[in-house]
Amino acid sequence: SGPLLKVENLTKHYPLGTGFLKKTVPVIRAVEDVSFSVEAGETLCIVGESGCGKSTVARLLMRLVEPTGGRVLIDGTDIAGLKKDALRAWRRRMQMVFQDPYSSLNPRLTAERIITEPVENFERLSRKQRHALAADLLRKVGMWPEMMHRLPSELSGGQRQRLGIARALSLNPSLIIADEAVSALDVSVQAQILNLLLDLQQQMGIAFVFISHDLGVVEHIAHRVAVMYLGRIVELAPCEALFAKPVHPYTEALIAAAPVPDPTHLRLEATVEGEVPSPINPPTGCAFHPRCPLAVELCRTDVPPLVSTADGRLAACHMRAPATDIAAHLEHSLT
Ligand code: SF4
Ligand code: MG
Repeated sequence: SGPLLKVENLTKHYPLGTGFLKKTVPVIRAVEDVSFSVEAGETLCIVGESGCGKSTVARLLMRLVEPTGGRVLIDGTDIAGLKKDALRAWRRRMQMVFQDPYSSLNPRLTAERIITEPVENFERLSRKQRHALAADLLRKVGMWPEMMHRLPSELSGGQRQRLGIARALSLNPSLIIADEAVSALDVSVQAQILNLLLDLQQQMGIAFVFISHDLGVVEHIAHRVAVMYLGRIVELAPCEALFAKPVHPYTEALIAAAPVPDPTHLRLEATVEGEVPSPINPPTGCAFHPRCPLAVELCRTDVPPLVSTADGRLAACHMRAPATDIAAHLEHSLT
């Protein structure tokens, strides 16, 4: 059997307004030719600076926006082609946890209603059934069943995010997409929520696509990491290998820029020198070349392909992961 989730050449361009001359209308290249897969029970983290397209990838996976190109397959089935019933069945399998537990929960509903609502979209529940389901879900996320009567405003930030997770769990999903799911929380609460997600993964075999700008969070929970820069994946590697020996110069800079981890403190905000260029007018060739200390002429003209390196990871860099023909070309030009 293949991977649970397979993403092929996913692309999203947003047109910036409309003009008379359609071909001159600029587009935001939010996501460009992104491919990856996720195995059952695995956590793939997508990391990058803000504006790199990682949230757009999340929305594309959830079909909250339609792709400009490419495909998303669940168990080998293209979700774009799903008709009504199959689409409903698929929606049960894939759930999302949002960054902001304040705005993503209906403030007028009790915790009980919030977390049982996804199930009630599929089947009618009696009062008793709803009660039992809510109590069970609250226990799963480490809350007291009595809290089911509270409104979101009567809960702490961490408890609200636990509710968001309980809601996502209610349909027994195979995959949860989490977009910056701990970024809005106090650092002390972040670790609790991450450990809850790890526990749930172990107990229920859930796969995660976990989107974060925070390397400390990523290192804590990822099995594999995809690093995005300006809409493209520039490196994809097992978590340990990535942190021990980054291949792509951008990954290296991100890791080098992250503060030394303090065990009581998970928030590690990386800043790499130089501005992230605009996705409206991305640099030619390798988009990282204006910030890259290794850049050569080829980097300004040719987009580096994402290729397998000797140790089995993927990287897109002319210097660090040369494609065979380019390597041959370089060798030739040196002799
Ligand atoms: Fe740097 Fe060139 Fe590699 Fe891009 S392709 S990361 S500019 S060396
Ligand atoms: Mg975002």
